[in-house]
Parts: sequence; C-alpha cells; structure tokens
Amino acid sequence: MRVPYDGPVSELPIESHWRSVLDHSRSYSDFTYVYPVVSRRSRGLSIGINLNPDKVCNFDCVYCEVDRKTPPLTRTVNLLQVRAELAALIAIASSGELARDPKFSETGSLTREIRDIAFSGDGEPTMVHNFDECAQMAADIRRAHHLDATKLVLITDAAGLDKQSVRRGLEIMDRNNGEIWAKLDAGTAEYFAQVNRSAIRFERIVANLTLTAQERPIVIQSLFLRLYGGIMPDTELGAYCDRLTGITEAGGKIQEVHLYTVARPTPEKWATRLEGPILESIAEKIRQRTGLPVATFA
Ligand code: SF4
Repeated sequence: MRVPYDGPVSELPIESHWRSVLDHSRSYSDFTYVYPVVSRRSRGLSIGINLNPDKVCNFDCVYCEVDRKTPPLTRTVNLLQVRAELAALIAIASSGELARDPKFSETGSLTREIRDIAFSGDGEPTMVHNFDECAQMAADIRRAHHLDATKLVLITDAAGLDKQSVRRGLEIMDRNNGEIWAKLDAGTAEYFAQVNRSAIRFERIVANLTLTAQERPIVIQSLFLRLYGGIMPDTELGAYCDRLTGITEAGGKIQEVHLYTVARPTPEKWATRLEGPILESIAEKIRQRTGLPVATFA
C-alpha cells in the first residue's frame, strides 16, 4: 500500500514494520556488491556497497546478523563491477523502477531520493586493502550522477580507522558530503569483550574514534541490548558516557549519537532486543551526562 503523504520526501515517516525496513538483505537482482535498503537511520533510501563479500570481520558481535553458514558468492571486490552496479542501481532508483519492486511497494516515492551511498556489508568495510580507491570510485559516481545532496557514509566498527588507505579514503569522503557512522557499544574493555568479541584492543577502538573525530565530526552508533535478560549495568553506562566525553574533551566532534537495538534474530539466543522505553531512558541519561544529541531507533 502506498503511503498517503504529500510533504517533502525526506520527512516522510518510515515505519519499522515495512518489508523494506525489516528485510535488510544485501542482495538485489543479480548484483554482487550493491543493494538498496530503506533505513530509518538514513531517513530513506540507502544504497549499500558490500566491501566484504567474503563475510570477514574483525569483530564477532553477539548480535551480528550476517549469515556466515552460507558460503560467500565471491571473496574479492571487483571495483569495476561495483562501479557498474552502483551506476545501474542509481538509475533504477531515480527512474522510479525500484518503487515498482514488491519489496519497496510500501515506501513509494522514498525510493527515488537516494539519501546516502553507504560502505557497509557482510563484514568490516575498512578491512579492504584499498579503501581510498573505493571511496574515490563512489565519489566519482556520485558526482557524475549529480547527487549533490547524497551522503557518502562509512559504517564501521572503527578498528581500521587508523589505516593509511582508510585515512586517505576519509579525506576523499570529507570532500564529497561524507559521514562516518562508527560503532561504540561499550564503555569498558570487559563489556567490549562480552558484546563485540574482538581481538582488537578496546583502547585502539577509542583512540581511533578520537583521532577520526578530531579531524571531522562523526556519528557514534551504539547497539544496546539485553544479555541473558539483563540490561547494561549503570556503571557500564557511566563508563560509556565517559568514553564519549573523553573524545570531546580531546577535541573530537561527535555530531550525534544513534542508539538502536536488535531488530532481527541474533545468532546468540541470549542476546535480545531492548524495549523502546528503556532505550529512550538510556538515551536521556546519555544526553544528561554528555550533553550530546542522542537519537533512538527502537
Ligand atoms: S562489526 Fe558488524 S559485521 Fe562485524 S561482527 Fe559486528 S555486527 Fe557483524
């Protein structure tokens, strides 16, 4: 059913029960790397670029939705093919063809406005060896299609933000309406080990966030959930807030904090969704303790 709405497309309310919002599968038609999703955090259509078709990640989050039981179609990133798929999907969205896809039938005109082109995927995008080339490719396509309002977004766990090719890629993004959405789910190394289960040291994650935020504003994305039925302890939430203020006191700029929770089945049955009112009460505590703008997506 099309939504009866005649206001600006970017302000069209996005319903969490829409099929295109619930189903964030990273596949479209016969494409290998590029896929469309309607995202509440993007506030509309996001075109994703999967830089991790091999499904490799340096985190092993308890809530990760990536299906690692099914073997990948490919383990390499063919940038020429990524470029061709990205150009094709932009044309499909802009022409209105995407709106006729049954999966996007509820979203109507939203699928004509490309809010962002996002490096995301089945793993951590900064693990590619040539992130700078990937960023340049996306910037070139964005400019060629006159997508002046479209953001280039990097969705990252922050582990690779100190790599030279990533830093060069971020500079390219800075010149092309770039935005970094960086994960921070914990305030202490212990909770980080419990939720994100990475061999990367937590201090390196925080240092990378700080370094990156000192050079341009970043968005922090935090997934809060129940572990074995319990919510994040208040001491952990305090440590999390201290990490945020530590970044800003070091001269880092945090544009906004996005809080979200589990939306789909998790691999660990004891990692479960946090109810909307609880997420909102956590958001309020973070606002009060840090003074930062916090948006929730329950
Ligand atoms: S960082 Fe993302 S892709 Fe990697 S394990 Fe966590 S949720 Fe999955």
